[in-house]
Amino acid sequence: MSQIKSAVGLRLRPSAHILLIKNPHSNWSKWDHLLAVAFSQLDAEMCDKCGNPIWLCRTTDGRVRFEVETYVCYADKELQKRRKKRESRKRELKDGEYEFVRAVPDVEGVVLPSRDDYYDLLALKSNSEE
Ligand SMILES: [Zn+2]
Repeated sequence: MSQIKSAVGLRLRPSAHILLIKNPHSNWSKWDHLLAVAFSQLDAEMCDKCGNPIWLCRTTDGRVRFEVETYVCYADKELQKRRKKRESRKRELKDGEYEFVRAVPDVEGVVLPSRDDYYDLLALKSNSEE
């Protein structure tokens, strides 16, 4: 779905974007239009409050219940820590100044984990829970 979203956002033919076909701007086919319409429909059906499909999160059907899960964004945690520290010192940001977080290695010269490393770790955790 994210590929169709990016294609539509870039005004590219969805099929050409997905299949890496040359000239992605040319000649939208019937299927490109259908993919764009389907994406638009799915996007409209995702709840802007919770991100779940509206047919699940807005139903009163008794078969549906919800579980709350949490995750930790360590980058945001660091930013919150910094913000609290700044506020305790009563220091405000200057006009136009803002704080942001970027990942850096804990030890200089060490390579940061890759996307593959992240998903490998999730798979390992998932397998060990089964
Ligand atoms: Zn919702």
